[in-house]
Amino acid sequence: MRRSSIALLSSLMFACSLTARGGDSPPVRLELDATAAPTGVLHSHMTFPATPGVLTLAYPKWIPGEHSPSGPLSQIVRLTFTAGGVPLTWHRDDLDIFLFHVDVPEGVSEVRADLDFACVLGQEGFQSDICSSYDQLVVNWWLVVLYPPSLPNDRDPFLASIRLPAGWKYNTSLPLAHESSPNTVEFGEVPLKTLVDSPLIAAKNLRTFPLGGRSSALMAISAESAASLEVPPDVVEHFERMVAETEAEFGGPRYTRYNLQISLGDAIDHYTLEHFESSENRLPSTGLSDPRVLLTTATMIPHEYIHSWNGKYRTPVGLDITTYQDPIKAKLIWVYEGLTDYISGIMAVRSGFWSEDQLRQSLAIDAAEMTYHTGRTWRSMQDTTVGAQMLLVSPNAWVSARRNTDFYPESGLMWLAADAIIRQSSGGRRSLDDFCRLFFAPHISAPYTFEDVANALNQVSPHDWSSFLRRHLDSLSADPPLAGLEQSGWKLVYTDRKSELIEDMEKVHKVDLLWPEWQSWGFADLRYSIGLLIQDDGTVLDSAPGMSGYAAGIVPGMRLTQVNGAAFSLPVLEAAVRGTANHGKLQLQAANGSASESHSLDYHDGLKYPHLQRDPSKPDLLQRIVEPQTAKTTVAR
Ligand SMILES: [Zn+2]
Repeated sequence: MRRSSIALLSSLMFACSLTARGGDSPPVRLELDATAAPTGVLHSHMTFPATPGVLTLAYPKWIPGEHSPSGPLSQIVRLTFTAGGVPLTWHRDDLDIFLFHVDVPEGVSEVRADLDFACVLGQEGFQSDICSSYDQLVVNWWLVVLYPPSLPNDRDPFLASIRLPAGWKYNTSLPLAHESSPNTVEFGEVPLKTLVDSPLIAAKNLRTFPLGGRSSALMAISAESAASLEVPPDVVEHFERMVAETEAEFGGPRYTRYNLQISLGDAIDHYTLEHFESSENRLPSTGLSDPRVLLTTATMIPHEYIHSWNGKYRTPVGLDITTYQDPIKAKLIWVYEGLTDYISGIMAVRSGFWSEDQLRQSLAIDAAEMTYHTGRTWRSMQDTTVGAQMLLVSPNAWVSARRNTDFYPESGLMWLAADAIIRQSSGGRRSLDDFCRLFFAPHISAPYTFEDVANALNQVSPHDWSSFLRRHLDSLSADPPLAGLEQSGWKLVYTDRKSELIEDMEKVHKVDLLWPEWQSWGFADLRYSIGLLIQDDGTVLDSAPGMSGYAAGIVPGMRLTQVNGAAFSLPVLEAAVRGTANHGKLQLQAANGSASESHSLDYHDGLKYPHLQRDPSKPDLLQRIVEPQTAKTTVAR
């Protein structure tokens, strides 16, 4: 009874939030001229209702999903304010450089802002502002918008339109109001929150694929070349199964329609981000056709899709900011990102992107990385959540000592342990799938607390979940959390054989499975043997305190020049490390600025790469965890 009332109330509030306005003010009009997208310049023209005095406008600072104060303010290359064609004076706030104060004279009821935003061309990195290339465009509206921060984002009405280069097609989840020539699209009124959460992709080459599902899910692919739009049928089928399986996982969609947007290309660079009714995925031009790229990308798109439920439909307290100027508090990001990380691996198998063995390879990498992150002895996983805004932009150097965004992989291993406990204590009748259906159910969209998570787990399977979660979150043990793997019938072992995943990551230059970054340089993953991650020019990317490389004095930023007297190359180094198992020595010459020093490594165990090995004394729970929940069906096209 109570739940029904809450459900009715929350759905009414949701409906109101789509149309409600802050007071009786008319909407902000935003006309985006993107006709110069091939040169990267976007001209944004906004009209704000105003009254005489000072009008304060904000440029979005804290970007949802990026979990950082990363609004690309420096890429505003021109900004002017006028009223009736007359320039207005303005100044930037002394303390908050994202705020602009405009002097509005008597008799003025409307202020126009003209903002030019320059997309960064030809750069690499996880940056939303690498947003256009000669061939295609990704509009994240936070790049080109100013807004009155006195109104909550979900009560700040906007009417947006866009003008595109001639002949370009587009895809967005924004409601269409009107299409007119030349290439101008007008959208229906939405709150700022919906506008910012609804990216638009555009290109001459753009194709859509229906993905089925209870609500309409569509895959929209833009590409530099028409040939890239020819997606292999089995890959399309994986995406169809991803929609069916994820809907089953969460008990149906929460969105009314969904656009899975993929931009394929090598000039626009690479980036992924979640939204409620879409996801943005910028991949290499071979992103859907090269099996090696697909293998090392398999969890990324399911990850962003899962966020429609975990993160967008339901958001933790602290990440549910009211305006984009409010700092996020990421203490519960181990649910938002960690649970998503765990489920995305399962979905990669249930959808057919990965085999069971490939999931095990991925879990072995996660577990080994947590062993390698010696910083786990001085800072807890909980501390990595609070420091998310820093860790998300930190370099490879000193990852072991500092820790990384471990609230993804370490929390993933914690959720596996939770899944194993629920399955074992319920005799296989309940699982974390039940938690997902309960916690993200249609009647509860309110932001949640730690206690809400523990209580929901308790409803699925009685246990001291608060202590379980706190123990994992606050641990300063050097031992990685392997209980979930062990209870699932698998052990972390190391052999001298590279797993297929590590082999492919090295070949496609992708250091981390989760991040959409393909480096121009190659690397060798020797973290689990001599504790070093080495770039193909010899640069030491990372070095783990306590392991033989670090103990010999090799630290990030040095550059290896010789291996046992021979000129450095990655194959020469790997061969020498392999040789240590047969009494071979390991003498490395390293340059540190103008100095060159010899480092002798006390290491005798050969090459070491992580794998999972079956423990026959226990049932194989992982096999049960990845069992599909739906019958295999094909969407009619
Ligand atoms: Zn995520």
